[in-house]
This record gives sequence, C-alpha cells and structure tokens, in this order.
Amino acid sequence: MNADPGGGLLSLRGVVREFAGPPPVRALDGVDLELGQGEYLAVQGPSGAGKSTLLNVIGLLDRPSAGAYDVNGRATAALSERERDRLRSSMFGFVFQSSHMLPGRTVAANVALALQIQGIEHARRAERVEDALRSVGLLSRANAPTFQLSGGERQRAAIARAIVGCPRVLLADEPTGNLDHANATDVIALMRSVVTEGISVVVITHDDRVAQSADRTVQLIDGRVHGHLRAS
Ligand code: ADP
Repeated sequence: MNADPGGGLLSLRGVVREFAGPPPVRALDGVDLELGQGEYLAVQGPSGAGKSTLLNVIGLLDRPSAGAYDVNGRATAALSERERDRLRSSMFGFVFQSSHMLPGRTVAANVALALQIQGIEHARRAERVEDALRSVGLLSRANAPTFQLSGGERQRAAIARAIVGCPRVLLADEPTGNLDHANATDVIALMRSVVTEGISVVVITHDDRVAQSADRTVQLIDGRVHGHLRAS
C-alpha cells in the first residue's frame, strides 16, 4: 500500500471545464481530488453534475479549461497530444456502461486489440490475454464470438480488455448500469479484485452497492466535489 493513500498518483487542483455552448456550461467548477495507488474511489451525483466530464479529464480524453492536473507527479497541461496519448495508454484502462465489444470477433481477439493499440508485439499478446481472461473467469470462453456472451460475461470481457495492458488506474462509467443483480454482483467483486492487485479504480455509479464497495465516495454536484465519505 502507498504510505499516503490519499494522494500521489492523480492530483486535480482547482480543475475547471467550461463548454462554450451556447449556452456556456461550467461542467467542472473547481475540482480538488487526489487518488493514491491501489485506492478505490466512487463518484456519485445527479445527472448533468459533471461526472462524465470528470472521468474524461482524469483519463486524458479531455483537457481542463483551468486548474492543474498531475498524473504520477507529471503536470499534464504542457504535454503534447502524442505525450498525452502515450501517458493515457500506459496509465488508464476504460470500462463503460456498454461493453463496446466487436461482436463478430472472439473474446480473446477483442481483448488482444487493446494490446495491439498499445503497440505490444504479436508474440507477447497471447499470454497476457490469457492471464487477463483467467482473472475475470472467462478463459473457457476465449474463443467464443462476443455476440454469444451474456451481458455479464461481456462486461467481464470489457474489464479484461481494460486491465490487459497493465494500467495503473481503471476508469469505469456506470459499469453495472446494464446488468441484473447477479451479474452486477460479479462485476462489483471483480473491481474489488482489481484493486487488490494494486490498480486504482475510479468509478462513476448510481449503484449504491458499487459505491459501498469503494474505499471512498465523493458526491459531484454542479461540477463541485462535496463530502469525502469513507465507506465502512
Ligand atoms: P453527468 O455525467 O454527471 O451526467 P456530464 O459530465 O455529462 O454530467 O455533463 C455536465 C454538464 O456539461 C451538462 O450540463 C452537459 O450538458 C454539459 N456538457 C457535457 N459535455 C458537453 C459538451 N461536449 N459540450 C457542451 N456541453 C457539455
């Protein structure tokens, strides 16, 4: 564990994100947030509060209009697009509400695609794909086309695809939003096991069970962070 679990890996200070509109919108209005290695943070809040914008900024998919965002001690504002791309692919894995699997390709091929995008050579992909599928309990389905998977299996495959590149942080946007209770339970357990492996997690969720399994929950309301609650 990090000696300072409240900080270190990701640090946002006074982060603002404005959209020009019209009408102009201040989606993030001075966000201060720290995330340590192996820490599991849930972000909750009403629709339109800025949660997706926050996740996009954290994942280097979007840039703040003002404020400072450091990743692993590195200020991101001055990075070129290419440096941001490199930092994003080495630091972050993404999971969304919908799994975004290519339906005609096998589970293994979908997961391997993430390594291909990272530039990992072909010969080194198979073993890593196998490890990732084993860790989400899908090794036996490796050669199935993804359209044959259940919704829960597809989301587990999406988690395998997100972690196969050994990210430091898993960013998840409503990962249980399309799942029934039992499949959501599996995904909640998996996200917890990802944290056990030392990967930090930031999850946006309306699902209180997901939030309760996190180490810490923050509420985002009108682009501002409210209340840092520790889960018991
Ligand atoms: P949440 O994920 O909490 O529902 P969002 O981050 O999607 O909230 O949106 C926060 C606010 O920013 C909303 O008012 C939304 O309409 C606005 N917004 C988000 N993305 C854009 C965009 N690309 N252009 C203009 N406004 C946007």
